[in-house]
Amino acid sequence: MTNADAEQGFATRAIHAGQAFDPTTGAVVPPIYQTSTFVQDGVGGLRGGYEYGRSGNPTRTSLEVALASLEGGDRALAFASGLAAEDALLRCALAAGDHLVLGNDVYGGTHRLIDRIHGAWGIRHTAVDLTDLDAVRNALDVDGTRLLWIETPSNPLMKVSDIAALAELGHAVGAAVVVDNTFASPALQQPLALGADVVVHSTTKYLGGHSDVIGGAVVLNTGELADKLAFQQFAAGAIAAPMEAWLTLRGIKTLEVRMQRHSENAQAIADRLSRHPAIERVYYPGLPTHPGHELAARQMSRFGGMLSVALAGGEGAARRFVESTRVFQLAESLGGVESLIGYPSEMTHASVRGTALEVPANIVRLSVGIESVDDLIGDLEQALDQAAQSAR
Ligand code: PLP
Repeated sequence: MTNADAEQGFATRAIHAGQAFDPTTGAVVPPIYQTSTFVQDGVGGLRGGYEYGRSGNPTRTSLEVALASLEGGDRALAFASGLAAEDALLRCALAAGDHLVLGNDVYGGTHRLIDRIHGAWGIRHTAVDLTDLDAVRNALDVDGTRLLWIETPSNPLMKVSDIAALAELGHAVGAAVVVDNTFASPALQQPLALGADVVVHSTTKYLGGHSDVIGGAVVLNTGELADKLAFQQFAAGAIAAPMEAWLTLRGIKTLEVRMQRHSENAQAIADRLSRHPAIERVYYPGLPTHPGHELAARQMSRFGGMLSVALAGGEGAARRFVESTRVFQLAESLGGVESLIGYPSEMTHASVRGTALEVPANIVRLSVGIESVDDLIGDLEQALDQAAQSAR
């Protein structure tokens, strides 16, 4: 299935790993195996090991091989959504009574899953600021800590945490270290090489890249946890469907060039907005004033396409701003080729209102797309003007 090797460059592997041409017809793009089951040559005579679509499908295998190659892991498992991937991982890595430590500004849905679903089954958790290594050390020092859950850059405040240093802290207490690499993507950040044990993704975002598919993945090295996850994927069945796997693969082929453009556009917007009077603060790791700038420059190859801004005019200005853009569309999600604008405290982070993870009401999040950057800057400036006028 593999048509690439580990020595090849990232962009080559993104196009070829797991994506060899179809041997039957020579089709350059491997087909979508839109089938639920596979004929057997006599009982148990499987072709290529495929038996039933929940246990395996060649299109899903292609995606899993590509994801493992891009993250530098032995094995990837593709799921129906990012949260389905996270849920499978949590079920395999933890048992009732165990404790996990997570960042205090992880994606709201991750916190909700851990708090309300796994909490109900006896999983304990502590949310801490992952940029404060002493706080992390203290939180890890709780009996039964089995996991450290990192999201960097974080959502929506773009905090950057030190994967290598955190991995050391986690390993010192015997905890497995998980990185949600959704915001950076493997094109910009390689958590396994930095010492993490597991990478999770919402492939819905940059990996898919075109806002046309929901999916998730776990990438890790061979071992007991990988075997448990493969069994969990098969036995509970939250698999990526063939069409979704194919769309995600199609997106992955252009990941590197997209991430380059996302990063360039976001940097230009961050530079411009940080000088705008209506903006109190820009949260973007590419700005030298960002507290995580130097770390991000070491840990990531570029700074990515996500940024957030705090509006000087408070909640009212933030609401008017997100409702006044024309190119940026007001929508949940991120990581697609088109620019999106969001109001986290009532959209992506509504589920954490009233908790330690609450997002301030004057924060607006931008998923900067790959459109012409002048159009994006012009759109944001006209929206800020409109927001200011309607406040008068
Ligand atoms: N992780 C991060 C950082 C996210 O932003 C999201 C979704 O927004 C998820 C995980 C969950 O992924 P999905 O929506 O594909 O279930």
